[in-house]
Amino acid sequence: MDVIKLVSQMTLEEKAGLCSGSDFWHTKAVERLEIPGVMVSDGPHGIRKQGDKADHLGNYEAVKAVCFPTASALACSFDNQLIYELGEYLGEECQAEKVSTLLGPGVNMKRSPLCGRNFEYYSEDPYLAGEIGAAFVNGVQSKNIGTSLKHFAANNQEYRRLSISAKIDERTLREIYLTAFEKVVKQAKPWTIMCSYNRINGLYSCENNWLLNQVLREEWGFEGVVVTDWGAMNDRVRAIQAGLDLEMPSCDGYTDQQLVEAVKTGKLSEEYITKAAERVVRLIQNYTENQVEGATYDKEAHHKFAKRVETECAVLLKNEKEILPLSKESKVAFIGGFAANPRYQGGGSSRINSSKVTNALDASKKYQVTYATGFRVEQIETDEMLLSEAIKTAKNAEIAVIFAGLPESFESEGFDRSHMDLPECQNRLIEEICKVQEKVVVVLHNGAPVTMPWVDRVKGILELYLGGQAVGEAAVELLYGDVNPSGKLAETFPIRLEDNPSYLNFPGTRWEVAYQEGIYIGYRYYDSKKMPVLFPFGHGLSYTNFEYDNMKVRVVRDGKACLQETGCYEVFDTDQIEVEVTVKNTGKCSGKEAVQFYIAPKKIEVNRPAKELKRYEKVSLATGEEKTVVIRLEPRDFSYYDVEKSNWRVSPGEYEILVGSSSRDIRLTKKVVIKNRKQEPFKVLDYTTFGDIDEYLNDNELMNRLVKRILGESDLARQFDDPHNRLWLEMFQGMPIHASKSFKVPPIENETVEQEIENLLKER
Ligand code: BGC
Repeated sequence: MDVIKLVSQMTLEEKAGLCSGSDFWHTKAVERLEIPGVMVSDGPHGIRKQGDKADHLGNYEAVKAVCFPTASALACSFDNQLIYELGEYLGEECQAEKVSTLLGPGVNMKRSPLCGRNFEYYSEDPYLAGEIGAAFVNGVQSKNIGTSLKHFAANNQEYRRLSISAKIDERTLREIYLTAFEKVVKQAKPWTIMCSYNRINGLYSCENNWLLNQVLREEWGFEGVVVTDWGAMNDRVRAIQAGLDLEMPSCDGYTDQQLVEAVKTGKLSEEYITKAAERVVRLIQNYTENQVEGATYDKEAHHKFAKRVETECAVLLKNEKEILPLSKESKVAFIGGFAANPRYQGGGSSRINSSKVTNALDASKKYQVTYATGFRVEQIETDEMLLSEAIKTAKNAEIAVIFAGLPESFESEGFDRSHMDLPECQNRLIEEICKVQEKVVVVLHNGAPVTMPWVDRVKGILELYLGGQAVGEAAVELLYGDVNPSGKLAETFPIRLEDNPSYLNFPGTRWEVAYQEGIYIGYRYYDSKKMPVLFPFGHGLSYTNFEYDNMKVRVVRDGKACLQETGCYEVFDTDQIEVEVTVKNTGKCSGKEAVQFYIAPKKIEVNRPAKELKRYEKVSLATGEEKTVVIRLEPRDFSYYDVEKSNWRVSPGEYEILVGSSSRDIRLTKKVVIKNRKQEPFKVLDYTTFGDIDEYLNDNELMNRLVKRILGESDLARQFDDPHNRLWLEMFQGMPIHASKSFKVPPIENETVEQEIENLLKER
């Protein structure tokens, strides 16, 4: 039935009631009008469907389900198609479990490596997080199951997450912390979006009219339901006016009553509740009208897919002297508790009750593998007996593979880490084994970067992240080369925590956390400062090699592409730019390469990071095979957020387009100069200098004429005529127009200068 008609038949009490949960996981039913209650469930890298005993921290058991790799691993795939397929698998599971909406994905930025929930987030880069998030949402929703994009917004830490105020300037919010949400909303239209617990610049997200009504709904065109994070409601009357629709979980009727009272006393227009109820009914209908009766899914097939996904995500960080892949005939020692008992998911609301878990030890049965525990998974201090047994095992083998990682007590939803180190016993074990065995590979199970004091002593490092329930099999397939690693880091691994740009301000005081590093997060900071890092953003090795060649740039103006072969490309701020490159597999086995496209502003008037990722594409290449990758950059890709104009703007000037295998392995570069298609009239402000005008005119002859016109026969004008007087020239460039009066020049009105500039441009 038509939603508007249906809701018009509801009483005020029914509408208010529909906009809060009936219990932990269900919306309310309105039986009289045959509106059923529907279920929502956590995930999102699997389904956490609970029964009567429910909680939002993953303590009570959920139904058995397949645990796929967590978000921090998924983003390393740099593969939208793969993530879309994963979404389809999850959508199928939701259909079978009668879950209307899967609560995820989380697209918050990894501001600090310490955030306890980083394993649930994709990246430090908003473009990558947005692309992967959109692919995920599109995949799930293709099965007529909703998603809940979370946690909107600026929820980048666990410390005091229920109340802390994130102090962020608007440019930083727009360019870094909102961009991934914006992309997913525009590219995938999630059925719901989940409001975060925290405050932004003093206002709770759930009550933030600017965030919900203005940015999310009006600017981005979001039409779905805005739901609270579980228990994030503070003032429901204020929230509903700010654009919040659904309170979860149940409020036992308490805040429903507040809404009703507010309408009755004239404090709130009923229209707000009607609109919210309409959105909730639409969500329920979207699901119920497309429900697949009798749906089931094959857990074994989904487990196999979970393995495949992990093999596409794991990142080969180091591979000195091609220590990997292991020869299938070698005598290998597996060492470390994680080989028998892998850590494959994180703690808290996303915890899946896995249908089964495979470990590397079992998965390597067909090879010559010996095993020593070395340390137990939750252990911190060294157990000397386990250590000496491990040393012996490593010594007697040809190669030692150490399965290390973070214990669950180190990272989880609910708290942040206080350091980036592995437990002491693991670092010591690695060091000791390197003393007796030259060939050492470390395999890591962790949700976020760790320090690696032994990085130069080991030959190989394979980063698995939290790789889902099939991680053990995936690890063995990668180690022995059945699958060639192709993951790339979706975040920087700094050498030490102190290098991270948020270090001085994370996690803030009791009431506030200042985002003082602004737009400089992750590689945007490390690269701008040219700092050494442990492993850079976008890094990931392969068992084969890829060569990049034939970079071409085409300017697409008014729908027509024109190739410019040489030199520097002159384009308008309204043009699209097509970039083409060929990638060839020149090594000995087939493999996949995530080709990355960055832009690097060179000479422009605004402060911008040294480079920013703008596109990527994962290509699969057989030995000797070559493929052409073509991408198209839009004006938005070159834009920054201009707070004065409240809009995205391309700053004219010089940029480089970079193509590479990582943010620090740039293979090809082309320069473009961007000009405004419609030159904006020049505005003279208090701080405008002669240099600013010179840059705007970009024409010596015109500048000379202008100087004559506004400075007349003064000494200052004569100095300007002397091209050898560098000091004068530089000073002149930096001199505000109004300062010329100190040089016996009669005062010049700003409007006069603007008029002269306009006249000169017309005369040109
Ligand atoms: C988490 C959400 C989760 C919700 C329901 C909250 O504590 O922040 O991510 O979806 O609980 O379990």
